[in-house]
Amino acid sequence: MPYRSPVGEFRFILDQIVPLAPVVATERFAEATGETVEAILTEAARLCDEVLAPLQRGGDLHPARLENGVVRTSPGFRAGFEAIAEGGWVALAAPQEFGGMGLPQALNMAVNDMMSGACLALQLNPLLSQGQIEALEHHASDEMKALYLPKLISGEWSGTMNLTESQAGSDVGALRTKAEPLGDGTYKITGQKIFISWGDSDLTENICHLVLARLPDAAPGTKGISLFMVPKFIPNADGAPGKRNAVSVVSLEHKMGLHGSPTCVMAFEGAQGWLVGAPGKGMAAMFTMMNNARLAVGVQGIGVAEASWQKAADYARDRAQMGPIINHADVRRMLATMKAEIFAARSIALACAVALDMGRATGEADATSRAALLTPIAKAYGTDTGMAVAEMGVQVHGGMGFIEETGAAQYYRDVRVTAIYEGTNGIQAMDLVGRKMMDRGAAAFRLLQEVEDAAKAARAVVPQLAEDVWAAAETLREATEGLLAQDTQDRFAGAVPYLRAFARVLGAHYHLRAAVVEGGQGPRSRLAAVYIRRLLPQYAAALAEAREGAEGLYALTDEDLGA
Ligand SMILES: Cc1cc2nc3c(=O)[nH]c(=O)nc-3n(C[C@H](O)[C@H](O)[C@H](O)COP(=O)(O)OP(=O)(O)OC[C@H]3O[C@@H](n4cnc5c(N)ncnc54)[C@H](O)[C@@H]3O)c2cc1C
Repeated sequence: MPYRSPVGEFRFILDQIVPLAPVVATERFAEATGETVEAILTEAARLCDEVLAPLQRGGDLHPARLENGVVRTSPGFRAGFEAIAEGGWVALAAPQEFGGMGLPQALNMAVNDMMSGACLALQLNPLLSQGQIEALEHHASDEMKALYLPKLISGEWSGTMNLTESQAGSDVGALRTKAEPLGDGTYKITGQKIFISWGDSDLTENICHLVLARLPDAAPGTKGISLFMVPKFIPNADGAPGKRNAVSVVSLEHKMGLHGSPTCVMAFEGAQGWLVGAPGKGMAAMFTMMNNARLAVGVQGIGVAEASWQKAADYARDRAQMGPIINHADVRRMLATMKAEIFAARSIALACAVALDMGRATGEADATSRAALLTPIAKAYGTDTGMAVAEMGVQVHGGMGFIEETGAAQYYRDVRVTAIYEGTNGIQAMDLVGRKMMDRGAAAFRLLQEVEDAAKAARAVVPQLAEDVWAAAETLREATEGLLAQDTQDRFAGAVPYLRAFARVLGAHYHLRAAVVEGGQGPRSRLAAVYIRRLLPQYAAALAEAREGAEGLYALTDEDLGA
């Protein structure tokens, strides 16, 4: 069966697990009533199931191509993108004064989840525009906003982010692209960027590149970086695309997956650029775009996991080997694990989005710091889940999983990059144990207190599950205290397992809530038991690794490591 958008899951999570109600109660998001949410989810699901999902396979079989310097996209992608733009889907959370709908990010992320499950490669295009819209909204001049935002929001133009250079990947501060003042308030941008998603395409009439570059005499490292808008076609006075700018695609990368998304090497050869925000504050401005994109990339992982799980479940019902394979214990284990992981990761991502919305609507510091804490967890756990579920999806299919025509392998290949781009999951984990703990763990302890309180309250309904979650949260709280006493190197050595343990505890918390909502009886309670009894215990092993610190790793010599 083809992909079916899981509308009921979003409805349940946003009603019962991480309620949208407090967001809707704010003045800013008062329009996101139950009726609006229902209409948005239903309409988005129709687009995803009927228009976008049928494009997924073609993107893999017929990758984007570079022809005479122009990127030609996969069959049907243009019509698919037009449907996204015309439906107003780029603009769901964009500001109303520039033509957006101004709806909560939580709703936007639910839609992004469905679109990623339907066609990840195409969805990456509007995802980047959404990030750019947010960066411009916060950092661009009024004039630039008036010129660019309506076009990006309508989907007439699309946005890219240009950070990476061959010597500057995770270490963005090593970038060398130059920006020299032209004397008329604009800048000459010169340099080469690699791995630029959707750096060119035939989907939109203009492409707006946000480029990180260095002004003359800029300080070394990230402090000396500024942000520039470099349009492919320089807008005329009337806003229409005019003269061609000196930016071009040198080549497209040959990738493991995500073939429908052109990944470009970009040459800026004295291209005209406009400064966004203050000189030297480029990283701060880009962080607005990256924070949005980090959560959205986590959601990409979850969307692909959903699609992969659906395909595997369909196959397991039909495939007979001594009876339908769905009756075999190990296949049931895989399908149950996949489904339980998806619910946990989705709830965490939506909790992050709800916190983000609350922070924006009310300015409350607690909501903002909760969103900041959850962002690296949502990104890394969402994409880890995408990879793990897609891998099990292949396994459920047996040999057919390795054969491309089932499509199970495509999910596995496509989703792999989500753990790498937008900051690798290792970098996310370092952010969690570093920057996000600079409040001495205050935001983490506040969240863990809620988990423990909820677990205590759940004892009346599901005593054993509640006890397990309470004990895990308590151990994580102690481990967090231990982490705060560690030096940076020890923290970094344990960052990934610590993040995974945190995600396990949060996932269990949301499953427990689902079981309580159901009164302890029913499908959600049964799934909660799978997560809490079988997957939650991994937190203990992860924390054991996190506590080990760095010493043992550095006791090994480079030669021991084969280097
Ligand atoms: C398909 C695709 C699309 C992309 N799209 C874009 C885009 O649109 N725009 C853009 O600007 N970039 C884009 N990227 C680039 C992407 O963001 C980078 O690949 C990513 O940030 C990692 O950088 P790197 O590849 O140089 O790896 P490296 O930084 O070399 O990392 C290699 C390994 O070392 C680890 N590592 C590096 N530094 C540290 C550290 N300080 N501490 C601990 N571990 C560390 C990493 O976690 C990783 O495991 C894309 C990449 C791909 C593959």
